[in-house]
Amino acid sequence: PAIVHDFLNFDWTFCTSKQSKHNWGPLTSNLLLIGMEGNVTPCHYDEQQNLFAQVRGFKRCILFPPDQFDCLYPHPVHHPHDRQSMVDFDKPDYNKFPKFSEARGFETVIGPGEVLYIPMYWWHHIESLMRGSYTVTVNFWYKGGPNGIVTYPLKGHQKVAVMRNIEKMLLDVLQDPKEIPPLLRAMVLGRYTE
Ligand code: ZN
Repeated sequence: PAIVHDFLNFDWTFCTSKQSKHNWGPLTSNLLLIGMEGNVTPCHYDEQQNLFAQVRGFKRCILFPPDQFDCLYPHPVHHPHDRQSMVDFDKPDYNKFPKFSEARGFETVIGPGEVLYIPMYWWHHIESLMRGSYTVTVNFWYKGGPNGIVTYPLKGHQKVAVMRNIEKMLLDVLQDPKEIPPLLRAMVLGRYTE
C-alpha cells in the first residue's frame, strides 16, 4: 500500500504534459530500479521514450546520440544482449572496437527529485555512485508515437530502426544467425568498401 501511495503521488501532470507535447504514445510500463552502490548498467539503448526519475541516491549517466551507433558496437539483434554495447567501458579493447575512441557523450549526475529524459534510441551508461547506501529510480516508458512525415536525410534514430529491421529480416529468412555475417560481407566487401 505504501508503494501504491507513493506511485499515485508522482507528478503525473509533469509526465503527461511531456507525453502530449512531444506526441508520444501510451505509457507502457514503469520500472522500479533498486541499485547497490557502484552498480553499473552497461551502455545500451531502448526502443521507448524514457522519463528516468531519481528517488534516492545519485547516479552518473552518460548519454550518446543514436548517430554514434558505429562507435558503440551493439550486439547483434538476435543476441540476448541486443541493444547493449559490446565495449567494456572500464577496459575498452580499441583493437576490436577502434571507433569507440571517437564516441562523445553527455555526462550528468542526477539526484533525488530530478528527472532525466532519455530519448528513444539514445545510448545510456548508468552508474550508482558511492554516496551513501542504495539508489532508487522509477522510470516511465512511453511508446514513441507516430512517425509522421519522413524527411531526408534520415536522422540517426531512423537509421538505427532501418538497420534493426534489415538484421531481423535476414535472420527471418536465413534462420541461422551464423549465416548473416558471410551474406553481409558478400554484399558489401569490394562493392561498398574501398
Ligand atoms: Zn535503458
